[in-house]
Amino acid sequence: MSNHLYDALVDPHRESEEILLRTVEKEPRTFTWDQMHRMAGRMARALQRLGARPGDRITVQVHKSPETLALYLACLRGGFVFQPLNPAYTTTELEHFVTDADPAVIICDPDRKADLEPLAARIGARLSTLRGDWKGSFFMLQMVQPETFETVERRPEDPAAILYTSGTTGRPKGAVLTHSNLLSNARDLVSVWDFTADDVLIHALPVYHAHGLFVACNVTMLAGASMIWLEKFDADAVVKAMPEASVLMGVPTFYARLLEHRGLKRATPDMRLFISGSAPLSPALHARFREKTGHAILERYGLTETGMNASNPLDGERRPGSVGPALPSTEIRITDPDGGTVLPTGETGMIEVRGPNVFPGYWKREKETEEAFRKDGWFVTGDLGHLDADGYLHISGRARDLIITGGLNVYPAEVEAVIDAVPGVAESAVIGLPDPEWGETVCAVIAPQPGRRLKEDDILATLENRLARFKLPCRIVFMEALPRNTMGKVMKDELRRLYGNG
Ligand code: AMP
Repeated sequence: MSNHLYDALVDPHRESEEILLRTVEKEPRTFTWDQMHRMAGRMARALQRLGARPGDRITVQVHKSPETLALYLACLRGGFVFQPLNPAYTTTELEHFVTDADPAVIICDPDRKADLEPLAARIGARLSTLRGDWKGSFFMLQMVQPETFETVERRPEDPAAILYTSGTTGRPKGAVLTHSNLLSNARDLVSVWDFTADDVLIHALPVYHAHGLFVACNVTMLAGASMIWLEKFDADAVVKAMPEASVLMGVPTFYARLLEHRGLKRATPDMRLFISGSAPLSPALHARFREKTGHAILERYGLTETGMNASNPLDGERRPGSVGPALPSTEIRITDPDGGTVLPTGETGMIEVRGPNVFPGYWKREKETEEAFRKDGWFVTGDLGHLDADGYLHISGRARDLIITGGLNVYPAEVEAVIDAVPGVAESAVIGLPDPEWGETVCAVIAPQPGRRLKEDDILATLENRLARFKLPCRIVFMEALPRNTMGKVMKDELRRLYGNG
């Protein structure tokens, strides 16, 4: 038996002097595969020294640095369960994640130590600190550990990580991802995106989310490729990195910001692939990026609980507004949201998925786990959409964002796509607002492009020719920019709160 994931990601290259990762900001640093493997060994030993045993959770709330990747690898190697958290969470917010996951060790930024000490003491966890190079007690502890470490054996079904879902309803739940969930998904993605050792990924995503951690890091490592590691997204740094890179993975806001950057066009010929996910990429943004750079952004779709499920093809048509066909190991079906019966091609309903990428369940939440799956094992994503005749998936939005007005369904994504195509519109979000007569009415929140002034009447006049009457917004409000979370998702709850009573 072996350690499923670590062996696949690092083992083939463990003694290689090739570069796995390099930073380009402030003081540039490089890490070879060998250095990363040895640091993962020292960190796994350090975690053992702090009392962690295989199967224990390790809570990690640190700023992104190459050491964060080493810590993730140390958890895989030591058989621990990695639980990354957004460094922006306050101590109060952290309380739920930490008490729920019940970790043996918490690693936090040195600045957070005093705040987290009482919480760690209460649950009996050891607290240690890390902030990049040479900073924090955990960094020091791992420095003095022997480098030899016998990778702990794990079964494919053993948990590798717990990631808390964004938690749009109720308290965030921990999605347990197994070694085989992560490995099978990374294998599919390496194959459909044709990742090879020659690829250089610009890594500008956070690493506490599935996108930056699993899609970006696992795929790069499985292919033996390398990364230019940016602490966070910065359009200037990304454009500068492009001549030495081949792939960018981003959320749609990355692409919107890049379009505003004057250096974009010149820098793109070296890039072979721009990938987008985590939030809908509007066809208008897709078109603008293509016009400016000649590249058709490749959009894909996934969730924390499942990893990636669908992707537009590398060769073949990348359809704007669609997330492409199911990945090779994943099955997708569309069902009637109430009864669960499978709907014919072209009809919009609940997106359900099945495959080795789908998680086994939520951490310590039997009831919620049961509710998330159909009796025949399909996972109910909570997203609505349809499959077209070629098997391409089109997402209409979250089921909870569906607008029902006068008994008719309005899918926000459809209306947003039409609004986004109106000249001068940068982005839009369509929400339902409570209405005594219609149940809900359609409200459009629109952010104009910088320097553009838009008028409600002009927009309505354009929409009237393109949308059925019941889909037309009854109200249009303008905002400078839509409120988005760190993964680029529009926070529709906030918009409903803002405009719901007005
Ligand atoms: P998370 O669990 O934070 O990764 O969020 C998953 C959710 O993000 C999905 O259920 C979708 O609602 C949304 N999502 C991810 N990728 C896309 C995409 N390409 N288009 C539209 N929505 C997406």
